[in-house]
Formats: sequence, structure tokens, C-alpha cells
Amino acid sequence: MQEDVYLGLGSNLARPREQLRDAVHSIAAIDGVTLRAVSSHYGSAPIGYDDQPDFVNAVARVATTLSPSALLSALQAIEQAQGRQRSFRNAPRTLDLDIVLFGDLQQDDPLLTLPHPRCHERAFVLLPLQELAPDCEIPGHGPVAALIPRCADQRIVRLDAQ
Ligand code: ADP
Ligand code: MG
Repeated sequence: MQEDVYLGLGSNLARPREQLRDAVHSIAAIDGVTLRAVSSHYGSAPIGYDDQPDFVNAVARVATTLSPSALLSALQAIEQAQGRQRSFRNAPRTLDLDIVLFGDLQQDDPLLTLPHPRCHERAFVLLPLQELAPDCEIPGHGPVAALIPRCADQRIVRLDAQ
């Protein structure tokens, strides 16, 4: 069975827009994953740790036959291949790949929480998600369109296509 999945992509090191483009190619090449759509890139202010460059973020929609944990492993391998270092929480990173939504699955496992535990309060997830799925609802939190106004204090701008 194919699940409808949304992935969050983020980078703020080493040419972030190229990092995102490379990641999209690698995601499309995962066995059991079909790439359906990719949002625009968004420039966003860092959250949690200020002394670092702005981020570039996007959301990709994929269909997959993989289990959630198998998909996460494949995404973490791509993060590693693109030089991801795990130093401290909210640190700058060449690539962050998160599973935002996996169908309507809800689970609390700290290794893989679904929907992503902070996605409903992050403009850098909600705006690109809305671009791909305007009527989307985040299980447990409600329609994306109703969540976005609550993030009005977060600095974010849609970047030109490139
Ligand atoms: P963050 O993305 O929160 O800034 P990391 O990318 O370092 O931080 O991820 C930390 C851990 O979060 C991962 O090792 C993973 O096991 C866990 N995690 C929990 N839920 C998710 C999710 N929905 N998508 C990606 N990782 C998740
Ligand atoms: Mg992550």
C-alpha cells in the first residue's frame, strides 16, 4: 500500500539551496519512494539558537511503500552523505530531513514522532506544506490554513525559483 508522505527539508550551511536540490534527487532515488512534488524554497530565521545563518526550507510530497522507520533510516543516510554533523540541538546543519506527515499516522515514539512534534508551530513547514496541500490537516492540530496565522511572528520569505 502506498502512503502519502510529506517531508521537511532544511539547510543553512554549504550552499543550502544546492543541498536541498541534491537531497531531492537522493530522495527520489530511494527504493520504494516516488517523488510527487516539491515546494518552493523558503528563507527562514533560525529558531532556538540565533547565532547562525538563515535556513532554506522546503517540503516534498512522496508516496512510499516503506515503513515509517525504514523511510527515516533512508533519510538519515542521505543526511550523513551530505555531511550532516550532529553537534548540539538546533545547531547549523548541511541537511535536515524530517518526516512531517506519514499519511494520517499518529505515534509518540521519540525515535519517530508523527506528525513531526513541532511541525504545527513552524512557518517553515506550514507555508511550503500549504503550497503543496492547501486543504491539508495535521492530525491532532487541525487545518494548516488555521495554524499559519499563529506563526505570524516568524520571519520567513518565499525565495525565487532557481
Ligand atoms: P531536529 O530535526 O529536531 O532539529 P535532528 O534532525 O537531530 O533534530 O533529529 C533528532 C532525532 O529526532 C532523530 O534522531 C529522530 O530519531 C528523531 N525524530 C523524531 N520524530 C521525527 C520525525 N518525525 N522526523 C525526523 N526525525 C524524528
Ligand atoms: Mg531532523
